[in-house]
Amino acid sequence: MNKELADKVKTRRTFAIISHPDAGKTTITEQLLLLGGVIRSAGTVKARKTGNYATSDWMEIEKKRGISVTSSVMQFEYEGKRINILDTPGHQDFSEDTYRTLMAVDAAVMVIDSARGIEPQTKKLFKVVRQRGIPVFTFMNKLDRDGREPLDLVAELEDVLGIEGVAMNWPIGMGQTMRGLYDIANQRIELYHPEEGEDKFIPLVDGKVPEDNPMAQDPQYQDTLGEIELLEGAGAEFDKEAVLAGEQTPVFFGSALTNFGVETFLKSFVDLAPAPSDHTVNGDEDLAPDDDEFSGFVFKIQANMNPQHRDRIAFVRVCSGEFSRGLDVTLARTGKPVRLNNAVEFESSSRVQVSEAVAGDIVGLYDTGNFQIGDSIYAGKRKLEFPALPEFTPELFMRVSPKNVMKQKSFHKGMNQLVQEGAVQLYRNYQTDDYILGAVGQLQFEVFQYRMKNEYNSEVEMTSIGHRVARWIKPEDLDPKMSSSRNLLVKDRFGNPLFLFENAFAERWFHDKYPDVTLTEKL
Ligand code: GDP
Repeated sequence: MNKELADKVKTRRTFAIISHPDAGKTTITEQLLLLGGVIRSAGTVKARKTGNYATSDWMEIEKKRGISVTSSVMQFEYEGKRINILDTPGHQDFSEDTYRTLMAVDAAVMVIDSARGIEPQTKKLFKVVRQRGIPVFTFMNKLDRDGREPLDLVAELEDVLGIEGVAMNWPIGMGQTMRGLYDIANQRIELYHPEEGEDKFIPLVDGKVPEDNPMAQDPQYQDTLGEIELLEGAGAEFDKEAVLAGEQTPVFFGSALTNFGVETFLKSFVDLAPAPSDHTVNGDEDLAPDDDEFSGFVFKIQANMNPQHRDRIAFVRVCSGEFSRGLDVTLARTGKPVRLNNAVEFESSSRVQVSEAVAGDIVGLYDTGNFQIGDSIYAGKRKLEFPALPEFTPELFMRVSPKNVMKQKSFHKGMNQLVQEGAVQLYRNYQTDDYILGAVGQLQFEVFQYRMKNEYNSEVEMTSIGHRVARWIKPEDLDPKMSSSRNLLVKDRFGNPLFLFENAFAERWFHDKYPDVTLTEKL
């Protein structure tokens, strides 16, 4: 073990923001980047979203749709810590990339619109985070607007997500009447609009504002005191161990748009969120993040980030050791050596050559087709293989065929490579062997179609089969007569049979008809 390396690792905070579209993820990300000094004015991140991002070299489809196709990485220094934010597309059209990105972080920040509460996409993403057991920090956003009762919002965490919410601060008023935050954790009031010459913070004495402060008479403040008492009586008590185990989520209120409560949130986050910890390798061994030998895994591959260069970048989450340029590593899947000459790290929008990267950091490797999603790489003699990344059951399906039947070869080549890369899931019709693609978001299909044309010169015809519920059946239970148009029988790329049900109703009907057959949702 090397002390210098261990000290560096301790400064790393690597997280992703999960939220439903429009909850304010982009806005809060931008405020965090402002606090970190990465950008100087608000609007930079926003502009990328609306497609006006002048220096953007992202792929065309992304510009056209004004959204981020695949998750990007942002990093900055804050109070002696190195923060890595792994962005996940906030758009409805999210993809498997979004899920996989959650495999590469040590914590998640959940942004909730306080007028809307927990929305469907947040629920889906939370489910993945929960399976990993990593800590989740909640930011109840848009306090400058009238929203739902704070007590209600905290209760919903438990009711809908099954995680205990513990308030770190509490709103004093909301919307038009918002006065500030009662900061339980730091025992102070944070004023929304301090008067000129007034300090932003009023320290609390015994949990109260000193009597001579005008705030003491404020009716909103009085209400808040009442709610704080309620919380003290019935609310959850902050328990750091439970937070780190992902069983309790600290709840922060604020308004990303008006930059209120964001800094308070960031300071607590940096303080409470975990530094990178051990990873499981080779089945059941523990690998310490300050192990001398470099290792990491590929959690995403992004092609054509720069259309002029037709490059592919493999995103590697560093798990141990230190990355340096020219490092020789072994690709665990093939046992072959690879020299890591060409790597980038990510500072907001620009790419710079990697200076140093340790556990928790993300490096982007220029890839000429060596890497696949889930690949492990390691330096040194001891083989290090990380667990396979989970596959996420697709919900949308398309029939796909080459437009030009004379171009079968390029069609098959592109298809194979993109499927291997994990861009989409491939199925074959059980009877006809027709190709069927599955994805968790519509956008994956569009990226697939675009890349087939641009990288493999193969135009594809796609017909939607729509939303389907995928359920696997044991081969011994299968009778091909069980299939119909409402429960399409297909096989996955390993040849396992599964049904694509039109809806939950069709699945129930199947269960009623074949009560002895067990179907599984293979995650
Ligand atoms: P994303 O889809 O989660 O990235 O959401 P955005 O950050 O793009 O925000 C969606 C909309 O909500 C935008 O119009 C933002 O200006 C607005 N918004 C974000 N945060 C706040 C907030 O704190 N208060 C108010 N009133 N609006 C906000």
